[in-house]
Parts: sequence; C-alpha cells; structure tokens
Amino acid sequence: MNIPDIIIAIDGYSSTGKSSLAKKIARKFGFLYLDSGALYRGVTLFAQEEGLISRLGKVNPALEEALAGLVLSFAEDGRLMMGPRCIEPEIRSMEVSSQVSNIAAVPYVRAWVDSQLREYGRRGRIVMDGRDIGTAVFPEAQLKVFMTASEEVRARRRYEEMVAKGETPLLEEVVQNLRERDYIDSHRETNPLRRADDAFELDNSDMSFEEELAWVQGVIQGKFGIL
Ligand code: C5P
Repeated sequence: MNIPDIIIAIDGYSSTGKSSLAKKIARKFGFLYLDSGALYRGVTLFAQEEGLISRLGKVNPALEEALAGLVLSFAEDGRLMMGPRCIEPEIRSMEVSSQVSNIAAVPYVRAWVDSQLREYGRRGRIVMDGRDIGTAVFPEAQLKVFMTASEEVRARRRYEEMVAKGETPLLEEVVQNLRERDYIDSHRETNPLRRADDAFELDNSDMSFEEELAWVQGVIQGKFGIL
C-alpha cells in the first residue's frame, strides 16, 4: 500500500493501545513513530530528580527556567534519552506515571513539548500518538484516530504489560492511576484530551489487534482511496 506523505495523529485515553497501533502503522508505511507521552514522562522524571515537584504533585515554577537546560531526544530504536542517558524504562514507572498528568497540565511544559513535536512534524511521514495531537499539535493532520476502550479492559492491559516487564503492581493501583490521569488530562485548561471533530473513533474494547488493523486499513482506504 502506498500512502502519501502525511501526518497521522492517534489520540485517546490511557492504555487504549495507541502506541501498539501507531507503531504497527508506522512500520507498515515506513513512517517515523513518535510517542509524545514519552516527552511528558521525561520532563516529569527531570522535575522529580531536580526536586521541582512535591510528593503531592505541586510543580515549582523554577521548572520553567530549568527546562532551558533539558535535552530530550529519541534514539534510533525509539527509546527516550536525557542528554546522553537512556531514561527507559524509568519513565514508565508508577512513580513517574503518578505525577506525569500534573506536569502535563502546566502550560509552559506543554509549549516546550509542542515545539519539539512540531519540529519532528516538519519532515512529514510520521505517526504520533498522545492526547492532543489531532486537536492542538497537528490540527492539520490528514488522518486522525481517537481511541477508547472500557476502563476494565484498559486496566487489565496495563496491569499485564507491567507484570510482563517484571513489575509487581496492584490492580487497584493501576485502575486508580488510569482514572486520575484520564480525569486530569480531560479537565485541564490547556489542550485537554478530547476527540477532534474530524477524528475517526475506534473503541477497541472487544477487538483483537488484527481487527483493529483491518479497521485502520479500511479507514485509510476510504480516505485516500488506496489499498
Ligand atoms: O501516552 P502516555 O500514557 O505515556 O502519556 C503520559 C501522560 O502524558 C498522559 O497521561 C498525559 O498526562 C500526558 N500527555 C499529554 N499530551 C500528550 C501526550 C501525553 O498531556 N500529547
């Protein structure tokens, strides 16, 4: 299948499988995959290490200036780097997950992340996943997908992912974290999580990954008239 040089935006709630789908589409079309949430996670780890966020999630305004000295980048294999240091899997820990939405609600943090994301977007041929890619970062994206799934399915997926990585989370803790993040993400003032008017909605609660792929292919075929 030949696809034009476009930007594909995949947004949605936490643990709906956005990154698995985005990676698969990117591989299929030879596009670059970009995980925008990783940058918010990187800023969160930075704020924690610099002592710029309290245990209760209160962000110290000194973070704004400190960001000028922060360099985050993606390695070839997609892992996030802070300067020369690889910060995977630290940024996926529960400690970071429990504070990332507080950090992501800060307008100057969003502006900092957005400018990096737009830089990547200039080259086109990218699939980016996140919460506001189709509404705010690339409102001009030619294909937008908004993903949802039941809370139960999402919590189970996230729990199993963490267990597979050797972590020992409590299911209740995972559910709580998903609820909190979704609430903060959809209620913040700056670019909250919402479906773009022109996004195709995909509820994958009862779908296999193969069915999801077939759905996306159908959308691409319908939109761009290609197989
Ligand atoms: O995608 P992931 O779950 O790793 O994102 C972590 C957090 O980063 C989200 O819960 C959200 O608070 C924030 N985020 C965001 N906007 C994006 C991507 C992620 O606010 N485009």
